[in-house]
Amino acid sequence: MTMTATPGSTVLPMLLAEVEVVSVERLSPTFVRVELGGRDLADYGVDGDRWDQRIKLVFPDPVTGAITSTEGADESWWATWLERPASERGHMRTYTIRDVRGSGEQTTLVVDMVLHLEGDLVGPGSTWASRAVPGDRIVLLAPRRGHPYGGIEFTPAPGAELLLVGDETAVPAICTVLEQLPDDARGAAFLEVPVAADVQDVRRPAGVEVVWLAREGDPLGVRLHDAVVTHLGIPGAEVEVGPGEVDPDLWETPYYSSSGEEVPGDVADGGGTYAWIAGESKVVPGLRRHLVNELGFDRRQVAFMGYWRRGVAMQS
Ligand SMILES: Cc1cc2nc3c(=O)[nH]c(=O)nc-3n(C[C@H](O)[C@H](O)[C@H](O)COP(=O)(O)OP(=O)(O)OC[C@H]3O[C@@H](n4cnc5c(N)ncnc54)[C@H](O)[C@@H]3O)c2cc1C
Repeated sequence: MTMTATPGSTVLPMLLAEVEVVSVERLSPTFVRVELGGRDLADYGVDGDRWDQRIKLVFPDPVTGAITSTEGADESWWATWLERPASERGHMRTYTIRDVRGSGEQTTLVVDMVLHLEGDLVGPGSTWASRAVPGDRIVLLAPRRGHPYGGIEFTPAPGAELLLVGDETAVPAICTVLEQLPDDARGAAFLEVPVAADVQDVRRPAGVEVVWLAREGDPLGVRLHDAVVTHLGIPGAEVEVGPGEVDPDLWETPYYSSSGEEVPGDVADGGGTYAWIAGESKVVPGLRRHLVNELGFDRRQVAFMGYWRRGVAMQS
């Protein structure tokens, strides 16, 4: 189907399209790189830098295989979609655009998808990624050229020292940001991955240090926490986060607060350190506490984002 030039049809402000898997590459034990293509992607576009641009993928139901219909979609699509049974509408999850290839109707979007190898926790996203082959079809929601879409959280002040921190789900976003940074960018990135074989070769400006940390069976987030607090000069800081501190919807940026805090609605105007931290919802608040409470980071200089939560399926 196409959402574009049919006379009389509604052109949605975002791209909602059924696309096809063009290629699949197993990058490492944890990452599967999936390239998605389709004529509708000719209308894909972001005004300015893409940075950590997120998109939504709607996976077919793993049991019924049903692909959600986008036929005749209009502004009420979201509400109508939510009303349909999950077995029919599929499962929506959030991913990062790792790369954009080609142009026009040959445009493809590349997504690096994490397989949940630790424990037996599976979800529709991870399951789909583990089985994906060229020709598979899936629905995506992405920015449409010329229309505001949102979904970019990387908003440092010009010249700010950067601190990028994430686990494997944030590796695609951090690598994509690193590749887009200007040559004179400064700072450090800390990326925790399940095993050493997941470490990727990524382009980085000379002034940005990139530190990969492989868990190799250690508890999630401990190496990341230790490396970051050491980098910030607060060694020995505790990682433990109490149950009451875990916000299931953790999203604290200069523009949005899941805890209902007042937000400035703009970013700091220069200098200092800008921190972008994403990953499992219990790991992120441990770091947040140190940055905000001990180092006094202004909330205009930070983005703390829960990308997933252990034991909880992300619902849309
Ligand atoms: C802005 C944003 C960008 C994101 N970008 C990416 C991306 O580019 N690539 C990517 O792979 N993920 C990305 N994620 C994370 C992804 O949306 C979640 O991991 C999501 O839970 C995956 O859906 P699922 O269907 O596989 O598992 P769900 O159905 O959501 O969860 C099922 C079970 O799997 C567990 N689980 C979920 N994720 C993981 C994990 N990574 N490791 C171990 N267990 C897990 C859950 O705790 C739960 O018990 C992003 C999230 C956000 C918010």
